[in-house]
Amino acid sequence: MEFVSVFDIFKIGVGPSSSHTLGPWKAARSFVMRLEQSEARILEGHIEVSLYGSLSLTGKGHATDLAVIMGLANYDPETVETKKIPEFIQVINEQKKIQLPSGMFVHFDPEKDILFKDSFLDYHANGMIFTWTGNNGDVISDVYYSVGGGFIVREGDHGGISGVNKNYPFPIQTSSELLRYCEKTGFSISDIVFENEKTDRTREKYEEDLLRIWHTMLESMYTGCHTEGTLPGALAVKRRSAPLLQKLLPKQLTYSDPETWIEAIRIAPLDFQKIFKWVSTFAISVNEVNAAFGRVVTAPTNGSAGVIPAVLMYYLCFVNKNAGKNEIVRFLACASEIGSIFKKGSTLSAAMGGCQAEIGVSSAMAAAGLTELLGGSPERCIIAAEIAMEHHLGMTCDPIGGLVQIPCIERNSMGAIKAINAAEMAIDRDPTEVKVPLDDVVRTMWNTAKDMNSKYKETSEGGLATTVNIIDC
Ligand code: SF4
Repeated sequence: MEFVSVFDIFKIGVGPSSSHTLGPWKAARSFVMRLEQSEARILEGHIEVSLYGSLSLTGKGHATDLAVIMGLANYDPETVETKKIPEFIQVINEQKKIQLPSGMFVHFDPEKDILFKDSFLDYHANGMIFTWTGNNGDVISDVYYSVGGGFIVREGDHGGISGVNKNYPFPIQTSSELLRYCEKTGFSISDIVFENEKTDRTREKYEEDLLRIWHTMLESMYTGCHTEGTLPGALAVKRRSAPLLQKLLPKQLTYSDPETWIEAIRIAPLDFQKIFKWVSTFAISVNEVNAAFGRVVTAPTNGSAGVIPAVLMYYLCFVNKNAGKNEIVRFLACASEIGSIFKKGSTLSAAMGGCQAEIGVSSAMAAAGLTELLGGSPERCIIAAEIAMEHHLGMTCDPIGGLVQIPCIERNSMGAIKAINAAEMAIDRDPTEVKVPLDDVVRTMWNTAKDMNSKYKETSEGGLATTVNIIDC
């Protein structure tokens, strides 16, 4: 049974897409590491990259080509200085070569050597082939798939899952198994997650790593809310979170960093309408940063990166103003387990399942995490996840112009609001009256994904992407 860690579900990376940016970036780095272990280390050669399926159809708008360049140049998406990415790309475009970690230069002209193919590979809609040809005619070639949420699979390998062969105390494939463990032990969902994670990390390290994830989420909200202007790309979408923040937060409430910003928000005037606006602002801010190639946390994808931070921020700012590290860790842990159940039983890839796999899953994750913090039992957390996904089933992926902007940015706000509503409904629900188990919804989502026309699976060949005229946008 595969194990998906909370740190597989939440990954620090660069926007705008986990499957089209982070995945190809990681695949390119993985290929470079393979070259390092081969004769490419000592022989001059040339690299060519072919992109297939959805990666080819929406790859330009999703910056797949740039991600491949950054990956081949071996930059780390978690730590690279995002502002300098255009500069790094320009150098490679001009020099037409990359340097392997061992020092050997390999010829690579992004303009000619990244090929957008008009066909699909068999295994998954996001396929890539990396080929190195040595000056002596030798060839090293690998096929990779970006299978959603930044996960990659190399043909011939098992996949990018962190702990396939270890003995975790609570192996979980479905929500009914998870609930059985909770009932047997009296643990919450976040406790179960920690018991499994203990196999690889001390409590201290586990909390430290989760708080780093939260800090990155908070930074992306803060950056988004303090950046004005227009997003990159032909749609010329105006950033909205900064003006929204200015309307919501009185000028006299001053702050100097993300932490003091939270304190200011906590004491700002509030009514029901403002709570809606705040949640939307938080969600939109993350996805504006994502659309501008900024640093976000894949949660469980980049396109849906705003939902979970927005719901957690809602809890910290408006529900429990004394909440801190403990609540943040529990929320993320519980949410991640729901994401992992969807990954194992369905998909996190919009190229396989449309937007239900992105916004739908993130909303279900956030709903469960919030329910745990609201004092809901594990059963109620699962009910919340079910409600949130039930009302995203069938949602298509149809980004206009292939950019992760419309409908994606607003859709994060909708996913966050639905998550809050799902948690509130679950708290009041009598579990014995529930008719739809989460596992049935996971299966339904997967069946819907298989039935969905490929036009609606991150190809920009249907839906809003074809009915809305870009010139009008
Ligand atoms: S429409 Fe949804 S799934 Fe598609 S790119 Fe946008 S956020 Fe991702």
